[in-house]
Formats: sequence, structure tokens, C-alpha cells
Amino acid sequence: MAVIENAKVTVVGAGAVGSATAYAMLIRGSARQVVLYDIDRARVEAEAIDLAHGAMFLGAGTVTGTSEIDRTAHSHVIVVTAGAAQRPGQTRLALIETNARIFRTMIPQLVEASPHAIVIVVTNPCDVLTMLAVEQTGIDPARLFASGCVLDTSRLRWAIAQRAGVDARSVHAHIAGEHGDSQVPLWSTATIGPVPLAEWDPAFGDDELDRIAQGVRTAAYAIIEGKGATNYAIGLAGTRVAEAVLRDENAILPVSTVLQNIHSIDGVALSVPSIVGSAGAVPLAGARFSEREQQQLEASARTLAETAARVRAAL
Ligand code: NAD
Repeated sequence: MAVIENAKVTVVGAGAVGSATAYAMLIRGSARQVVLYDIDRARVEAEAIDLAHGAMFLGAGTVTGTSEIDRTAHSHVIVVTAGAAQRPGQTRLALIETNARIFRTMIPQLVEASPHAIVIVVTNPCDVLTMLAVEQTGIDPARLFASGCVLDTSRLRWAIAQRAGVDARSVHAHIAGEHGDSQVPLWSTATIGPVPLAEWDPAFGDDELDRIAQGVRTAAYAIIEGKGATNYAIGLAGTRVAEAVLRDENAILPVSTVLQNIHSIDGVALSVPSIVGSAGAVPLAGARFSEREQQQLEASARTLAETAARVRAAL
């Protein structure tokens, strides 16, 4: 596989997350062509023209907005952020069912228009929606996967970097498992530069690690309370995953693929460190977990499998 020249990326959904993703892509020069697609025509056209008006300050990338699926055709990467917002009184499960129904119609249409695209699911619950979409379409799980815990991992590295007084890019640590409450911080392999976290001076105590993990796990709730949505960091996270594909980087990122008998998990999508390049995402078989982390990952897989089963039964 190779670096994709003159890349076309479709961002599906022109809400808070989709427009932040398109904005990040334009600023970073990730693709030659960014197409923003949404069923809300007035909104998508307005977002695209607002983004396009930054032309004088950007590179050569273009952005267009559309509510016609044909205009997304021949995309190299599709980042899916479209979904229904939670209505007052609506349960989380009911919201999942609504988004699963949207996906059931939308994903096959997108894939038909761009049969060679790599599809990155951002819409929540991203692990369950990925599982159902792979089952429905029969697509190779390497080619349709979720951004998963990439955002959570950036939150983790930021929190550790703040405490240690180092650049977040010098922190090597991952969140795995569900993009949600049962996620697993991989403390056993976390380092700052070459220094294991447990040996950093002053040392991180267990209580402190628990507080950091809790902060990462609940970050979205706190932000949504204050501003109604999270969008900038996920816009960057989705863009980073798309870039790893477009540039055939073979970057190691904790994306969520449907695991096939790896790490003792089968048929469930959850995040583990994976190699991401132009052929998509492949879980890193050599990733090592402590016994406790392995147990937590398996518990996370059970939670996700149960939710997926409930949604399948309701559809
Ligand atoms: P939003 O309500 O602002 O935007 C959603 C957009 O989807 C709307 O513009 C709507 O018109 C569009 N849409 C709905 N149905 C559609 C369809 N069938 N085809 C095309 N477009 C359609 O929501 P948001 O704040 O942008 O959040 C989007 C999603 O991203 C949510 O599911 C949210 O939970 C998720 N999210 C995921 C992460 C992550 O790390 N995975 C982080 C933040 C948010």
C-alpha cells in the first residue's frame, strides 16, 4: 500500500464534531478535498462556506458541503460523526438504537459510493456501532473501525504530562477497551520518555493514578455539562487517525476494531494498540497487558457484547 496523493475525505455529519474535524483537517492540510455531508442541507452548506472562507489562511485543500451522497463518491477515507442527539428523557439504550438505525441505512450507501474507502466511526457508542456495521456490511474489520480510545489516550497523556511537567508527546501510555465507562488505562506499560511511570520522581501513587483514570473516564461528562458537546479534541483525534491512513504511516494508535480471536477476545470491537496505515487498522498482536488489565479488557468486552446483543434484539 502507499501514501494517498490528492486525498478525498468525507466527513459525515456537520454538527459540533464533524465541523471541528473538517476544520482540523483543513488547518493541518490532511487532505486535498474535504467533503462535509449531512442530511441537514442548510447547516452543511453554511458550515462548509464558513470553513471555505478561511481559504486565504489555509493550504491548497478545498471544502464543500452537501446533502447528496453521490458527492461523497470515491472518498479515500470517510469519518462518520453523524448521529441523533440525546433527547430529554431518552435512555442511553434508546439513543443507541436510533443511531444504529441511522447507520443501517447510511453506512451501506456511503460504502457503495466509495467502495475502497477506509471508514472511521466517531459517532457514539462507537464500539457497538462499529460491531453492528461490520456485521451488516461484511466489510473487512481492518477497513471499518472506530476512533475508539484515541481521544481518551490523548486526555490521559495530557493529564500525565501536566503532572510530570513534560511535553504530552513524550508520554507513552494508552487507554484500551470501551470508549466509555469500562475503559482500561494500561498502566503496566506506561512510560514518560524511557522512565516507567512507577519510577518517575516524584512517583505517581496508586491513588493518583486512580484519580487520573477517573478524570479521563468522566472528562466528556464534565465538558458536556459546561458547553453541551465535546468537539475540538475529538476533531483532532479523528483527523489524526485519518492522516495515519492517508499517509500510510503504520502509526500505533488505540483504535477500536472488531477483534478476531486476539487478546482472548472474539467478535467484539474495542480499542487495543493497533497499526494504522493505508490498508486500515490491525490490532498489534504483540501488545502485552498485565493480568489485571487483561481481566479488565475481557470485562469491557462482555459489557460491549451485552449492549450489542440488546441493540440487535431491538432492531
Ligand atoms: P450534533 O448533533 O452536533 O451533530 C450530528 C449531526 O449529524 C447533525 O448535523 C445531524 O443533522 C447529522 N445527521 C443525523 N442523521 C444523519 C444522517 N442520517 N445522515 C447524515 N447526517 C446526519 O452532534 P455532535 O456533537 O457533532 O456529536 C456527533 C457524534 O459524535 C455523537 O454521537 C457524539 O456522541 C459523538 N462523539 C464521539 C466522540 C468519540 O471519541 N468517539 C467524542 C465526541 C463526540
